[in-house]
Amino acid sequence: MTEMLTSLRTSQPTTCPVCGARTFILKESPEEPGSPQAHQCLDAACQFTFIEEEDQEDPERQV
Ligand SMILES: [Zn+2]
Repeated sequence: MTEMLTSLRTSQPTTCPVCGARTFILKESPEEPGSPQAHQCLDAACQFTFIEEEDQEDPERQV
């Protein structure tokens, strides 16, 4: 049932690892789905930026 777990995770919004606020995507790479995305915290007092890689680790791609 790993597929269900994956879909659950991806359906959740990304939150700031510092304050837990919602984030928006700074940069998107539509040509490379699964590539890391740059996020920035929506909290004006925080504005923490970080790179988040998609949670779906596909074992077959690492072979
Ligand atoms: Zn934050």
